[in-house]
Amino acid sequence: MKKIIPLLLILFGVGIAWGQRCLSETILKEKMENDPEVAARRIAIEANRQIPTLDSEITSREVVTIQVVVHVVYFLPIENISDAQIQSQIDVLNEDFRLQNANANIVTLPEFASKMADMEIEFQLADTDPDGQPTNGITRTHTLIPNIALKLLGNLRLICYTELGGQDAWCPDRYLNIWVGKFPVGFAGDTSFPGQDEPEEDGVRIDPYHFGRTGIALAPFNLGRTLTHEIGHYFDLQHTWGNCITDDGIEDTPWQKSPYSGCPSGWNYYSCDSRDMYVNYMDYTDDACMAMFTLEQKQRLMATLNGPRSGLLTPTNCGTVSTVEAENWFKGSLFPNPTNDQLFVELPFRNDSTYELEFFDMQGKHLGEKFNLDSGIHELDITMLGSGVYFVKITQGKHYMYKKVVVQ
Ligand SMILES: [Zn+2]
Repeated sequence: MKKIIPLLLILFGVGIAWGQRCLSETILKEKMENDPEVAARRIAIEANRQIPTLDSEITSREVVTIQVVVHVVYFLPIENISDAQIQSQIDVLNEDFRLQNANANIVTLPEFASKMADMEIEFQLADTDPDGQPTNGITRTHTLIPNIALKLLGNLRLICYTELGGQDAWCPDRYLNIWVGKFPVGFAGDTSFPGQDEPEEDGVRIDPYHFGRTGIALAPFNLGRTLTHEIGHYFDLQHTWGNCITDDGIEDTPWQKSPYSGCPSGWNYYSCDSRDMYVNYMDYTDDACMAMFTLEQKQRLMATLNGPRSGLLTPTNCGTVSTVEAENWFKGSLFPNPTNDQLFVELPFRNDSTYELEFFDMQGKHLGEKFNLDSGIHELDITMLGSGVYFVKITQGKHYMYKKVVVQ
């Protein structure tokens, strides 16, 4: 439980300020503090980072194209955003990461303009799915779970699992997975730093109202730059501020005390004894007012692309996420589903051990008693459940999985 409770508290509002636009660093910190495996992976990435030199590898290399899959997971029909809104987001990425953004001219100060980087990566919606079939790079899933993007079951992010009302990842060594699903008001998105998450959850989660620059995108985060910022995290860039005590590890972003919001203009903004680069994509300014990555941010991105995210450079035919496959051990079923008052479970004979079944609500709260059952068909007592969506955790030995049940 020690691993689970702190993250639940953070994600459901105890440890975060309302209006915290991006949750990436908060979630990474919580995971590192509470999961030694995450901490070990992150420390290894830090220790092994090979920063390329500006001359040899940064300024003259081939542009890399990243294959993207966008998983739209919608509760309300309006959140089932259009193909045009999705394409508008891809267009923004290709402008911002190639320094072709129309607002680049807002960076007028020479000391910053000379640091502006063409990151030399581009993005395209995948044209081949994990099974080798043609695709438009978009999946669409209707969910019964409102605000699914921040919902957890134990440590699992529901939006990342088909079985839990979301959509399974495509192999993250080949695709950048982007889940577009509703966050509670005040939050825009979060991203897996390299090494942070298991493959099932490795990617970006983002609110449909802060995605792209057309459709339902809402001002002032309606120009697609939430995702530019989040993909910065995906390649291991940190926020540009840090209380004048910590820093983002990047030399050419000035030390900065706190994030900027709104749309500052002019250059009379100082903290930590230096002028602040509030136009950096890794700050919190409005979409219209952020315009650049720096050359040393590019170096770090390159190090990530050649290191923990190198799978994106040489895509192999990796189809499914391995641990999801491992969960397919369960061949039984729950029925009828949706149900009114009766629920049966079929538990196939696998080995001599019994099954254990437990119910959870959408907030991850355990309901009722555990059922210990032998193989066969059993009726489950669900009188403690009102109408709603529930999860049944089915365990046998060291294997477990969750099944979603709808009670009407
Ligand atoms: Zn962020």
